[in-house]
Amino acid sequence: PPPGQIIDGKAVAERLRGRLAARIATLPFRPGLRVVRVGDDPASGVYVRNKDRAAAAAGFDSATIQLPAETREADLLTLIEALNLDPAVDGILVQLPLPPQIRPDMVIAAIDPAKDVDGFHAVNAGRLATRQPGLVPCTPKGVMHLLREAGAKLAGARAVVLGRSMIVGRPMAQLLLDADCTVTIAHSRTRDLAAECRRAEILVAAVGRPEMVRGDWIGDGAVVIDVGINRTPQGRLVGDVAFAEAAVRAAAITPVPGGVGPMTIACLLENTLEAALRRRGAVT
Ligand code: NDP
Repeated sequence: PPPGQIIDGKAVAERLRGRLAARIATLPFRPGLRVVRVGDDPASGVYVRNKDRAAAAAGFDSATIQLPAETREADLLTLIEALNLDPAVDGILVQLPLPPQIRPDMVIAAIDPAKDVDGFHAVNAGRLATRQPGLVPCTPKGVMHLLREAGAKLAGARAVVLGRSMIVGRPMAQLLLDADCTVTIAHSRTRDLAAECRRAEILVAAVGRPEMVRGDWIGDGAVVIDVGINRTPQGRLVGDVAFAEAAVRAAAITPVPGGVGPMTIACLLENTLEAALRRRGAVT
């Protein structure tokens, strides 16, 4: 990639959504997505609204089911069972975080793996780990799109993933490994994080610590993907990477906002289309 390229996730996401819309226009049905939201966590409110808008614009049959904050776990599980059985529903997403009376593990396990468009079900995690076709978590999937769009050379490259969560870090490492990177997963117990990062030709930061990755942690010419979304006490959104410092060293870097964020929603829609085609026996 050319030096100092800023990877425009908004534009890449828009193009992906355009391709999905074009594909859906050729189908005799509309892929169905149901987003279930319990309570009204303000952080997820904007996200849920953006999902609805993007889904409708691309031609999905999409709806958000809003439940009260005091909903019992058993009632949420009953709803999920109904969505599992509903032939018009191809994708089910339960918005996290959930209120304390509901165990997220129970909810994730209740979703039909064929409709699990978040890709969090153990069956889908297992498929990813064993290289079988399945639904892949949206954020790491979006990162792979961005790396390819940025022209990053993946085969043989040293990739470092900062963070080992089920949602981002772990599936991210699997996808990079499947793309033939040499992958290191770093976390809070890693000794000398800066040195690990400096060796990276591809660096994906998903730690949730504002601007933790400094400019001198970036190797010259690295491709840097910042998954972090953190709000400063002043209310500004920043990533896990100190952007201005890192941009000077990196060959390409994603901004926050406008990098990985928009890709997550586009990949949710991509997963919903994939789930719809697979459920109907079409090869994707
Ligand atoms: P988690 O809190 O689940 O995981 C954070 C990971 O970072 C853990 O593995 C943790 O290590 C590691 N970590 C935390 N502090 C440090 C540290 N000081 N040094 C090294 N490693 C550390 O977060 P998520 O994976 O869910 O999310 C990460 C970030 O990405 C957040 O900012 C989140 O908001 C953002 N995000 C953005 C999305 C998007 O659409 N762009 C989607 C999902 C998340 P350990 O395991 O040892 O505790």
